[in-house]
Amino acid sequence: MGTELLIVGGERVSSASGATFQVIEPALGTPMAEVAEADGEDARRAIEIAHRAFEEGPWPRTAATLRGRVLLRASTIVRERLEELATIEARNVGKPIRDARDEMGIVADTLEYWGGAANKIFGETVPVQDPGLDVTLREPAGVCALITPWNFPLAIASWKIAPALACGNTIIVKPATYTPLTVLALAEILIEAGLPPEAISVLPGPGSTVGNALVDDPRVAKISFTGSTAVGSEIMARAARNITRVSLELGGKSASVVFADAEMDTAVERSVWAVFGNCGQDCCARSRLFVERPAYEEFVERLAKRTAELRIGPPLDERTEIGPMISQDQRRTTLDYVALGIDEGARLVRGGKIPEVPGGEGGAYVEPTVLADVDNRWRVAQEEIFGPVVCVIPFDTEEEAIRLANDTTYGLSGSVWTRDVGRAIRVAKGIRTGVISVNSSHSVHTEAPFGGFKRSGVGREMGMHAVNLYTEVKNVFFSQA
Ligand code: NAP
Ligand code: MG
Repeated sequence: MGTELLIVGGERVSSASGATFQVIEPALGTPMAEVAEADGEDARRAIEIAHRAFEEGPWPRTAATLRGRVLLRASTIVRERLEELATIEARNVGKPIRDARDEMGIVADTLEYWGGAANKIFGETVPVQDPGLDVTLREPAGVCALITPWNFPLAIASWKIAPALACGNTIIVKPATYTPLTVLALAEILIEAGLPPEAISVLPGPGSTVGNALVDDPRVAKISFTGSTAVGSEIMARAARNITRVSLELGGKSASVVFADAEMDTAVERSVWAVFGNCGQDCCARSRLFVERPAYEEFVERLAKRTAELRIGPPLDERTEIGPMISQDQRRTTLDYVALGIDEGARLVRGGKIPEVPGGEGGAYVEPTVLADVDNRWRVAQEEIFGPVVCVIPFDTEEEAIRLANDTTYGLSGSVWTRDVGRAIRVAKGIRTGVISVNSSHSVHTEAPFGGFKRSGVGREMGMHAVNLYTEVKNVFFSQA
């Protein structure tokens, strides 16, 4: 097992301190890689290079069409190496290989989208009163620090890396300590595709050292963060000192609202995946499931039955539908919440135990869990668990469903299940979240904006909305006098 080095200004280097850490394979609980551990000093070195590359280097000055071509080539390489990347991701996160393949497809799609978008980012001509010509320019923001979580490591990183580069910025990526491997691989792919090496650094290391150093440095123009609401809040406060631009994609406690007239087979099937996919470690998880009273008992029964059929197993087994959680810590949190929910009065309908997975004794496996008869005010219904636990809650009227769905500090995503078009429109408008899907559990589309209301975040990633995150608008007035 060799050491995976940092990437600083495109070059593989040891950390300044010489420190390394082990990346654990969650299905086994054993190390799968040794990685150089960056700290504040590495961050300052990377910022210096990125800053010079922004001020003087070719990338911000490269024609947008040529920048786009680099991203398109990178997309092609990701597709060619999809199986290799998917295998690393599946092992490192513990996610089923089939899901990891889908995510690598999303990474390629994202690079392709921004490859095509790069030369379609432009300003406006503005009819000002003064005689002359007024135009706006979309200029790159500068050095961007991209801080990412472990649940969808490369997919989420690509949602930041691709638009930031398309807009002409130089970037420093701080992947989650649990999952640095695929992001390191993508940086090399981008350089192979023609990105000037000094335009990219990847710094695996703790948020408390390397993360803070990136956030605190006045040479960083923009911080794009995906992770927990607690850390997002801290980053926003620290960034305030330098007025550093911040966008945040944070936690959620999203609702699925199922009316009695819904197409039940699909609603049950999609509701299972909407909360148990990625072993519940999904910011968009529909972890509160509101079901209209006449359909409630039957829905709970069918949900429990389908949940019991899910195939829990090792990530690389093609039949596996649910892998382990990322860590023993996260599993403990999940099991504690299940106990809390029962304590608060929930009915445990399914799951709540550690399953037997042959060969998986060292892995952080946990059974997908259905808690019924939950009250939306309970902690189990209010706090993000980030594990495979769904709270099922009955409701009586459309107004009540909207009120309950909104009774949360979060506002990321949600679903409405009904055959009544008018009701679908009313509920979709009534629920205060950044994303809502009707008769679907889809959350994220490469081409459409994604982000949260309330404590779920600030700003919109994905689609052309992301241009707002990675550019500054400059107004230029030419006098004709
Ligand atoms: P996290 O603990 O907030 O960590 C996210 C990233 O921030 C990691 O790279 C982490 O580094 C780093 N970090 C930690 N403290 C920092 C600090 N003081 N300064 C700068 N960076 C710091 O989140 P997580 O545990 O990885 O992910 C779970 C959370 O992310 C959940 O709440 C989930 O809902 C949310 N999430 C949201 C979205 C979305 O799009 N809205 C998507 C995925 C996940 P370390 O790894 O070293 O701790
Ligand atoms: Mg964390």
